[in-house]
Amino acid sequence: MEQAFLDYYRCPDQFADFGLSNDFHANPICDVSSGTNGQVEMSLCSLDEMSVLSFEGATCSLPFNLSEVADSLRFERYVNGTGKTGWKRLVRQAYYFLRPALPVPIRRHLQRVSLKGWDTTPFPQWPVDRTVDRMFETGMAISLRAHQCIIPFVWFWPEGKAGCAIMTHDVETASGLDFVGELMDIDDSFGIKSSFQIIPESRYRTGEDVLATIRRRGFEINVHDLKHDGHLFDEQTQFREQAVRINQYAAKFGSRGFRSGILYRRLDWYDAFEFSYDMSVHNVGHLDTQPGGCCTVMPFFVGNILELPLTTVQDYSLFNILRTYSTDLWQQQIDLISQGHGLMSFNVHPDYLDNTRAKNSYKDLLHTLATLRSTADLWTPLPGEVDAWWRQRSEMQVTADGSGWRIQGPGAERARLAFATLVDDTVRYSVAPAACCYASEASL
Ligand SMILES: [Zn+2]
Repeated sequence: MEQAFLDYYRCPDQFADFGLSNDFHANPICDVSSGTNGQVEMSLCSLDEMSVLSFEGATCSLPFNLSEVADSLRFERYVNGTGKTGWKRLVRQAYYFLRPALPVPIRRHLQRVSLKGWDTTPFPQWPVDRTVDRMFETGMAISLRAHQCIIPFVWFWPEGKAGCAIMTHDVETASGLDFVGELMDIDDSFGIKSSFQIIPESRYRTGEDVLATIRRRGFEINVHDLKHDGHLFDEQTQFREQAVRINQYAAKFGSRGFRSGILYRRLDWYDAFEFSYDMSVHNVGHLDTQPGGCCTVMPFFVGNILELPLTTVQDYSLFNILRTYSTDLWQQQIDLISQGHGLMSFNVHPDYLDNTRAKNSYKDLLHTLATLRSTADLWTPLPGEVDAWWRQRSEMQVTADGSGWRIQGPGAERARLAFATLVDDTVRYSVAPAACCYASEASL
Protein backbone atom coordinates (compact mmCIF):
# COMPACT_ATOMS: atom_id res chain seq x y z
CA MET A 1 0.00 0.00 0.00
CA GLU A 2 1.34 3.40 -0.89
CA GLN A 3 0.68 5.63 2.12
CA ALA A 4 1.89 8.85 0.48
CA PHE A 5 -0.50 8.26 -2.43
CA LEU A 6 -3.36 7.67 0.01
CA ASP A 7 -2.45 10.78 2.00
CA TYR A 8 -2.35 12.85 -1.17
CA TYR A 9 -5.74 11.79 -2.51
CA ARG A 10 -7.52 10.42 0.55
CA CYS A 11 -9.03 7.76 -1.73
CA PRO A 12 -10.17 4.31 -0.54
CA ASP A 13 -7.27 1.94 0.25
CA GLN A 14 -7.99 -0.49 -2.57
CA PHE A 15 -7.00 2.10 -5.16
CA ALA A 16 -3.50 2.42 -3.76
CA ASP A 17 -2.71 -1.24 -4.35
CA PHE A 18 0.73 -0.87 -5.85
CA GLY A 19 3.30 -3.61 -5.63
CA LEU A 20 7.00 -3.59 -6.33
CA SER A 21 8.20 -5.18 -9.52
CA ASN A 22 11.24 -7.45 -9.83
CA ASP A 23 13.40 -4.74 -11.31
CA PHE A 24 12.76 -2.52 -8.33
CA HIS A 25 14.98 0.55 -8.19
CA ALA A 26 15.89 1.42 -4.63
CA ASN A 27 16.42 4.98 -5.74
CA PRO A 28 14.89 5.88 -9.09
CA ILE A 29 15.98 9.47 -8.73
CA CYS A 30 18.96 9.03 -10.90
CA ASP A 31 21.82 11.26 -11.89
CA VAL A 32 21.79 13.40 -8.79
CA SER A 33 25.16 15.00 -9.08
CA SER A 34 27.03 18.16 -8.42
CA GLY A 35 27.51 19.93 -11.71
CA THR A 36 29.51 23.02 -12.47
CA ASN A 37 29.32 25.76 -9.84
CA GLY A 38 28.24 23.11 -7.34
CA GLN A 39 24.68 23.20 -8.62
CA VAL A 40 22.59 20.16 -8.06
CA GLU A 41 21.68 18.55 -11.32
CA MET A 42 19.05 15.94 -11.43
CA SER A 43 16.82 14.11 -13.78
CA LEU A 44 13.86 12.08 -12.69
CA CYS A 45 12.95 8.95 -14.55
CA SER A 46 9.29 9.51 -15.16
CA LEU A 47 6.78 6.76 -14.71
CA ASP A 48 5.79 7.19 -18.35
CA GLU A 49 9.26 6.30 -19.48
CA MET A 50 9.33 3.15 -17.46
CA SER A 51 8.09 0.41 -19.68
CA VAL A 52 8.23 -2.10 -16.88
CA LEU A 53 4.78 -1.65 -15.35
CA SER A 54 3.05 -4.95 -14.88
CA PHE A 55 -0.53 -5.60 -13.87
CA GLU A 56 -1.74 -8.58 -11.91
CA GLY A 57 -5.48 -8.23 -11.45
CA ALA A 58 -5.99 -4.78 -9.97
CA THR A 59 -2.47 -4.67 -8.53
CA CYS A 60 0.07 -2.74 -10.50
CA SER A 61 3.73 -3.36 -9.90
CA LEU A 62 5.87 -0.26 -9.94
CA PRO A 63 9.64 -0.32 -10.24
CA PHE A 64 9.97 1.89 -7.16
CA ASN A 65 8.24 2.96 -4.00
CA LEU A 66 6.13 6.09 -4.58
CA SER A 67 6.27 7.14 -0.92
CA GLU A 68 10.07 6.98 -0.78
CA VAL A 69 10.48 9.03 -3.92
CA ALA A 70 7.94 11.60 -2.73
CA ASP A 71 9.83 11.92 0.56
CA SER A 72 13.20 12.27 -1.17
CA LEU A 73 11.82 15.21 -3.11
CA ARG A 74 9.63 16.87 -0.48
CA PHE A 75 12.32 16.61 2.20
CA GLU A 76 14.94 17.73 -0.34
CA ARG A 77 17.11 14.66 0.24
CA TYR A 78 18.30 14.98 -3.35
CA VAL A 79 20.31 18.06 -2.33
CA ASN A 80 23.73 17.13 -0.99
CA GLY A 81 23.79 17.76 2.73
CA THR A 82 22.09 21.02 3.56
CA GLY A 83 23.83 23.04 0.93
CA LYS A 84 25.77 24.69 3.73
CA THR A 85 29.10 22.98 3.41
CA GLY A 86 32.66 24.01 2.65
CA TRP A 87 33.47 27.32 1.08
CA LYS A 88 29.81 28.14 0.48
CA ARG A 89 29.20 28.07 4.19
CA LEU A 90 32.18 30.32 4.85
CA VAL A 91 31.09 32.79 2.20
CA ARG A 92 27.56 32.80 3.62
CA GLN A 93 28.83 33.38 7.16
CA ALA A 94 30.97 36.25 5.96
CA TYR A 95 28.10 37.71 4.00
CA TYR A 96 25.69 37.68 6.94
CA PHE A 97 28.37 39.04 9.25
CA LEU A 98 28.85 41.98 6.90
CA ARG A 99 25.25 42.27 5.74
CA PRO A 100 24.00 44.95 8.14
CA ALA A 101 26.88 47.20 7.05
CA LEU A 102 26.37 46.70 3.33
CA PRO A 103 24.31 49.15 1.31
CA VAL A 104 21.49 47.59 -0.73
CA PRO A 105 23.17 47.99 -4.17
CA ILE A 106 26.24 46.05 -2.95
CA ARG A 107 24.09 43.35 -1.31
CA ARG A 108 22.14 43.06 -4.53
CA HIS A 109 25.33 42.74 -6.57
CA LEU A 110 26.77 40.05 -4.28
CA GLN A 111 23.53 38.11 -4.38
CA ARG A 112 23.39 38.28 -8.16
CA VAL A 113 26.95 36.97 -8.39
CA SER A 114 26.25 34.14 -5.94
CA LEU A 115 23.11 33.17 -7.87
CA LYS A 116 24.85 33.24 -11.27
CA GLY A 117 23.58 30.45 -13.47
CA TRP A 118 20.31 29.99 -11.57
CA ASP A 119 18.28 30.25 -14.76
CA THR A 120 20.03 27.28 -16.35
CA THR A 121 19.63 24.96 -13.36
CA PRO A 122 17.39 22.21 -14.73
CA PHE A 123 16.00 20.87 -11.50
CA PRO A 124 13.76 21.70 -9.70
CA GLN A 125 11.97 23.21 -12.64
CA TRP A 126 11.66 26.99 -12.69
CA PRO A 127 9.32 28.80 -12.02
CA VAL A 128 7.12 26.05 -10.51
CA ASP A 129 8.06 22.42 -9.97
CA ARG A 130 5.21 19.89 -9.70
CA THR A 131 7.30 16.70 -9.92
CA VAL A 132 5.75 15.17 -6.78
CA ASP A 133 2.21 16.10 -7.85
CA ARG A 134 2.77 14.79 -11.37
CA MET A 135 4.14 11.56 -9.94
CA PHE A 136 0.97 11.04 -7.92
CA GLU A 137 -1.18 11.96 -10.95
CA THR A 138 0.68 9.31 -12.93
CA GLY A 139 0.10 6.86 -10.06
CA MET A 140 -3.59 7.73 -10.30
CA ALA A 141 -3.54 7.07 -14.08
CA ILE A 142 -1.97 3.67 -13.45
CA SER A 143 -4.53 2.84 -10.77
CA LEU A 144 -7.37 3.93 -13.08
CA ARG A 145 -5.99 1.69 -15.82
CA ALA A 146 -5.67 -1.23 -13.42
CA HIS A 147 -9.15 -0.86 -11.90
CA GLN A 148 -10.99 0.13 -15.08
CA CYS A 149 -13.32 2.43 -13.16
CA ILE A 150 -13.53 5.91 -11.75
CA ILE A 151 -11.76 6.59 -8.45
CA PRO A 152 -13.34 8.71 -5.71
CA PHE A 153 -11.22 10.89 -3.42
CA VAL A 154 -11.50 13.86 -1.06
CA TRP A 155 -11.15 17.07 -3.09
CA PHE A 156 -8.12 19.14 -2.13
CA TRP A 157 -9.98 22.23 -0.87
CA PRO A 158 -13.13 22.83 1.18
CA GLU A 159 -16.49 23.55 -0.48
CA GLY A 160 -14.99 22.35 -3.76
CA LYS A 161 -12.82 25.47 -4.21
CA ALA A 162 -10.67 25.19 -7.33
CA GLY A 163 -7.43 26.28 -5.66
CA CYS A 164 -6.02 28.19 -2.70
CA ALA A 165 -3.90 31.32 -2.21
CA ILE A 166 -2.33 32.68 0.98
CA MET A 167 -0.59 36.00 1.55
CA THR A 168 2.20 36.24 4.13
CA HIS A 169 4.45 39.11 5.23
CA ASP A 170 7.84 38.60 6.89
CA VAL A 171 8.66 41.72 8.89
CA GLU A 172 12.42 42.25 8.60
CA THR A 173 13.12 45.67 10.13
CA ALA A 174 11.69 48.37 12.39
CA SER A 175 10.58 50.35 9.34
CA GLY A 176 8.76 47.27 8.06
CA LEU A 177 7.00 47.02 11.41
CA ASP A 178 5.96 50.66 11.09
CA PHE A 179 4.29 49.83 7.76
CA VAL A 180 2.21 46.93 9.11
CA GLY A 181 -0.91 49.07 9.73
CA GLU A 182 -0.93 50.47 6.20
CA LEU A 183 -0.27 47.02 4.76
CA MET A 184 -3.30 45.62 6.62
CA ASP A 185 -5.36 48.46 5.09
CA ILE A 186 -4.14 47.49 1.60
CA ASP A 187 -4.87 43.78 2.17
CA ASP A 188 -8.30 44.58 3.62
CA SER A 189 -9.17 46.73 0.61
CA PHE A 190 -8.95 43.54 -1.50
CA GLY A 191 -10.72 41.42 1.11
CA ILE A 192 -7.61 39.37 1.85
CA LYS A 193 -6.40 38.63 5.38
CA SER A 194 -2.74 37.70 5.72
CA SER A 195 -0.15 36.57 8.24
CA PHE A 196 2.71 38.62 9.66
CA GLN A 197 5.88 36.81 10.62
CA ILE A 198 7.56 38.64 13.52
CA ILE A 199 11.26 38.28 14.45
CA PRO A 200 11.27 37.88 18.26
CA GLU A 201 14.84 38.97 19.10
CA SER A 202 17.52 41.42 18.02
CA ARG A 203 15.99 43.13 15.00
CA TYR A 204 13.31 45.37 16.55
CA ARG A 205 11.09 45.64 19.60
CA THR A 206 7.53 44.48 19.08
CA GLY A 207 5.12 46.03 21.53
CA GLU A 208 2.04 44.14 22.67
CA ASP A 209 -0.09 46.94 21.18
CA VAL A 210 1.11 46.12 17.63
CA LEU A 211 0.42 42.42 18.14
CA ALA A 212 -3.00 43.15 19.64
CA THR A 213 -3.91 45.35 16.65
CA ILE A 214 -2.89 42.64 14.16
CA ARG A 215 -4.99 40.07 16.03
CA ARG A 216 -7.98 42.39 16.49
CA ARG A 217 -8.11 43.10 12.76
CA GLY A 218 -8.32 39.38 11.99
CA PHE A 219 -4.77 38.94 10.71
CA GLU A 220 -2.42 36.26 11.94
CA ILE A 221 0.92 36.42 13.79
CA ASN A 222 3.65 33.85 13.24
CA VAL A 223 7.20 33.57 14.49
CA HIS A 224 9.95 34.48 12.02
CA ASP A 225 13.21 32.80 13.04
CA LEU A 226 14.71 33.93 16.38
CA LYS A 227 17.33 36.58 15.59
CA HIS A 228 17.33 36.28 11.80
CA ASP A 229 21.13 36.16 11.68
CA GLY A 230 21.44 33.21 9.29
CA HIS A 231 22.77 30.90 12.03
CA LEU A 232 19.67 29.17 13.39
CA PHE A 233 20.46 25.81 11.78
CA ASP A 234 24.26 25.93 12.06
CA GLU A 235 24.69 23.44 14.87
CA GLN A 236 22.17 21.02 16.34
CA THR A 237 22.67 21.51 20.11
CA GLN A 238 22.58 25.27 19.75
CA PHE A 239 19.56 24.97 17.44
CA ARG A 240 17.63 22.93 20.02
CA GLU A 241 18.32 25.54 22.69
CA GLN A 242 17.08 28.26 20.38
CA ALA A 243 14.04 26.17 19.39
CA VAL A 244 12.97 26.20 23.07
CA ARG A 245 12.99 29.99 23.00
CA ILE A 246 11.18 30.04 19.64
CA ASN A 247 8.46 27.80 21.08
CA GLN A 248 8.13 30.18 24.03
CA TYR A 249 7.69 33.13 21.67
CA ALA A 250 5.05 31.17 19.76
CA ALA A 251 3.09 30.76 22.99
CA LYS A 252 3.58 34.44 23.83
CA PHE A 253 2.48 35.62 20.36
CA GLY A 254 -0.34 33.06 20.16
CA SER A 255 1.28 31.74 16.96
CA ARG A 256 0.65 28.41 15.29
CA GLY A 257 3.05 28.95 12.39
CA PHE A 258 6.75 29.53 11.75
CA ARG A 259 9.04 30.66 8.97
CA SER A 260 12.82 30.63 9.27
CA GLY A 261 15.02 33.56 8.26
CA ILE A 262 16.31 33.41 4.68
CA LEU A 263 14.36 30.15 4.29
CA TYR A 264 17.20 28.18 5.91
CA ARG A 265 15.95 24.83 7.12
CA ARG A 266 16.84 21.36 8.39
CA LEU A 267 13.57 19.43 8.30
CA ASP A 268 15.12 16.49 10.17
CA TRP A 269 15.47 18.77 13.23
CA TYR A 270 11.85 19.96 13.14
CA ASP A 271 10.83 17.64 16.00
CA ALA A 272 12.17 20.42 18.28
CA PHE A 273 9.40 22.78 17.16
CA GLU A 274 5.95 22.90 18.71
CA PHE A 275 4.28 24.60 15.76
CA SER A 276 1.25 23.39 13.91
CA TYR A 277 2.61 24.52 10.56
CA ASP A 278 5.75 25.78 8.87
CA MET A 279 6.33 27.90 5.75
CA SER A 280 10.11 27.68 5.31
CA VAL A 281 10.38 25.34 2.32
CA HIS A 282 10.22 26.79 -1.15
CA ASN A 283 8.89 24.94 -4.14
CA VAL A 284 11.94 25.79 -6.24
CA GLY A 285 14.68 27.82 -4.64
CA HIS A 286 16.91 28.99 -7.48
CA LEU A 287 16.73 32.61 -6.31
CA ASP A 288 17.17 31.81 -2.63
CA THR A 289 20.36 31.25 -0.69
CA GLN A 290 19.72 27.63 0.33
CA PRO A 291 19.15 25.67 -2.87
CA GLY A 292 16.59 22.93 -3.36
CA GLY A 293 12.84 22.90 -3.30
CA CYS A 294 10.11 20.48 -2.30
CA CYS A 295 8.81 19.97 -5.88
CA THR A 296 5.15 20.10 -4.85
CA VAL A 297 2.43 22.76 -4.72
CA MET A 298 0.46 20.89 -2.07
CA PRO A 299 0.87 20.96 1.73
CA PHE A 300 2.61 17.94 3.28
CA PHE A 301 3.46 16.75 6.76
CA VAL A 302 6.94 16.91 8.29
CA GLY A 303 6.27 14.72 11.32
CA ASN A 304 3.40 16.47 13.07
CA ILE A 305 4.10 19.83 11.47
CA LEU A 306 2.24 20.72 8.29
CA GLU A 307 4.43 22.32 5.65
CA LEU A 308 2.79 25.05 3.58
CA PRO A 309 5.46 25.44 0.90
CA LEU A 310 6.35 28.83 -0.51
CA THR A 311 5.36 28.35 -4.13
CA THR A 312 6.00 31.77 -5.68
CA VAL A 313 8.91 34.17 -6.04
CA GLN A 314 9.49 36.54 -3.12
CA ASP A 315 9.12 40.29 -3.68
CA TYR A 316 12.78 40.92 -2.84
CA SER A 317 13.94 38.54 -5.58
CA LEU A 318 11.49 40.02 -8.06
CA PHE A 319 12.26 43.67 -7.38
CA ASN A 320 15.98 43.50 -6.55
CA ILE A 321 17.47 40.42 -8.19
CA LEU A 322 15.35 40.10 -11.32
CA ARG A 323 14.98 43.90 -11.23
CA THR A 324 11.41 44.08 -12.38
CA TYR A 325 8.18 45.47 -11.01
CA SER A 326 6.17 43.55 -13.57
CA THR A 327 3.84 40.94 -12.08
CA ASP A 328 4.26 38.66 -15.13
CA LEU A 329 6.30 36.08 -13.22
CA TRP A 330 3.74 35.96 -10.38
CA GLN A 331 1.01 35.56 -13.01
CA GLN A 332 2.93 32.73 -14.69
CA GLN A 333 3.31 30.95 -11.36
CA ILE A 334 -0.39 31.48 -10.56
CA ASP A 335 -1.30 29.86 -13.90
CA LEU A 336 1.00 26.86 -13.37
CA ILE A 337 -0.16 26.26 -9.79
CA SER A 338 -3.82 26.65 -10.82
CA GLN A 339 -3.38 23.88 -13.38
CA GLY A 340 -2.56 21.54 -10.52
CA HIS A 341 -5.25 22.98 -8.17
CA GLY A 342 -2.41 23.76 -5.76
CA LEU A 343 -1.52 26.23 -3.04
CA MET A 344 -0.27 29.65 -4.19
CA SER A 345 1.66 31.14 -1.31
CA PHE A 346 3.23 34.58 -1.41
CA ASN A 347 5.75 36.32 0.81
CA VAL A 348 5.70 40.10 0.40
CA HIS A 349 7.75 42.10 2.91
CA PRO A 350 6.44 45.39 4.31
CA ASP A 351 10.09 46.50 4.27
CA TYR A 352 10.34 46.45 0.47
CA LEU A 353 7.03 48.18 -0.25
CA ASP A 354 8.66 51.52 0.43
CA ASN A 355 8.22 52.93 -3.07
CA THR A 356 5.26 53.52 -5.35
CA ARG A 357 6.28 51.01 -8.02
CA ALA A 358 6.61 48.20 -5.48
CA LYS A 359 3.30 49.12 -3.88
CA ASN A 360 1.56 49.17 -7.26
CA SER A 361 2.98 45.75 -8.18
CA TYR A 362 1.71 44.38 -4.90
CA LYS A 363 -1.75 45.88 -5.44
CA ASP A 364 -1.80 44.35 -8.95
CA LEU A 365 -1.09 40.97 -7.39
CA LEU A 366 -3.88 41.39 -4.82
CA HIS A 367 -6.25 42.49 -7.59
CA THR A 368 -5.41 39.33 -9.55
CA LEU A 369 -6.10 37.13 -6.52
CA ALA A 370 -9.37 38.92 -5.69
CA THR A 371 -10.48 38.51 -9.31
CA LEU A 372 -9.66 34.80 -9.29
CA ARG A 373 -11.62 34.46 -6.05
CA SER A 374 -14.77 35.81 -7.72
CA THR A 375 -14.32 34.31 -11.20
CA ALA A 376 -12.39 31.06 -10.68
CA ASP A 377 -13.48 29.94 -7.22
CA LEU A 378 -10.10 30.55 -5.60
CA TRP A 379 -10.01 30.17 -1.80
CA THR A 380 -8.06 33.00 -0.06
CA PRO A 381 -7.87 32.04 3.63
CA LEU A 382 -5.32 32.73 6.36
CA PRO A 383 -2.43 30.24 6.48
CA GLY A 384 -3.81 28.95 9.79
CA GLU A 385 -7.12 28.12 8.10
CA VAL A 386 -5.27 26.08 5.45
CA ASP A 387 -3.48 24.25 8.26
CA ALA A 388 -6.77 23.49 10.04
CA TRP A 389 -8.43 22.29 6.82
CA TRP A 390 -5.54 20.11 5.65
CA ARG A 391 -5.30 18.47 9.08
CA GLN A 392 -9.00 17.63 8.98
CA ARG A 393 -8.75 16.36 5.41
CA SER A 394 -5.83 14.13 6.42
CA GLU A 395 -8.19 12.27 8.78
CA MET A 396 -11.09 11.86 6.34
CA GLN A 397 -12.04 8.58 4.72
CA VAL A 398 -13.99 7.83 1.55
CA THR A 399 -16.18 4.82 2.15
CA ALA A 400 -18.60 2.87 -0.02
CA ASP A 401 -22.20 3.79 0.74
CA GLY A 402 -24.91 1.93 -1.12
CA SER A 403 -24.41 2.57 -4.80
CA GLY A 404 -22.04 5.46 -4.20
CA TRP A 405 -19.44 6.93 -1.90
CA ARG A 406 -19.38 9.08 1.20
CA ILE A 407 -16.68 11.12 2.99
CA GLN A 408 -16.50 10.47 6.71
CA GLY A 409 -14.66 12.25 9.50
CA PRO A 410 -14.75 15.56 11.38
CA GLY A 411 -15.26 18.46 8.98
CA ALA A 412 -16.64 16.20 6.23
CA GLU A 413 -19.54 18.60 5.72
CA ARG A 414 -17.07 21.10 4.20
CA ALA A 415 -15.37 18.44 2.09
CA ARG A 416 -16.38 17.51 -1.43
CA LEU A 417 -16.16 14.15 -3.09
CA ALA A 418 -14.13 14.20 -6.30
CA PHE A 419 -13.71 11.62 -9.03
CA ALA A 420 -10.66 10.83 -11.13
CA THR A 421 -11.16 9.48 -14.62
CA LEU A 422 -8.86 8.69 -17.51
CA VAL A 423 -9.52 10.62 -20.70
CA ASP A 424 -7.05 9.91 -23.52
CA ASP A 425 -4.49 8.67 -21.00
CA THR A 426 -4.78 11.90 -19.01
CA VAL A 427 -6.20 12.07 -15.50
CA ARG A 428 -9.23 14.34 -15.24
CA TYR A 429 -10.89 15.41 -12.00
CA SER A 430 -14.50 16.34 -11.40
CA VAL A 431 -15.90 17.60 -8.12
CA ALA A 432 -19.28 16.53 -6.75
CA PRO A 433 -21.54 19.12 -5.12
CA ALA A 434 -21.53 17.27 -1.80
CA ALA A 435 -19.52 15.00 0.49
CA CYS A 436 -21.60 12.01 -0.54
CA CYS A 437 -22.54 10.91 -4.00
CA TYR A 438 -24.81 7.99 -4.85
CA ALA A 439 -24.82 7.68 -8.60
CA SER A 440 -21.07 8.04 -8.90
CA GLU A 441 -19.94 10.28 -11.74
CA ALA A 442 -23.33 10.16 -13.49
CA SER A 443 -24.70 12.69 -11.02
CA LEU A 444 -21.99 15.28 -11.61
ZN1 LIG B 1 13.13 37.26 6.88
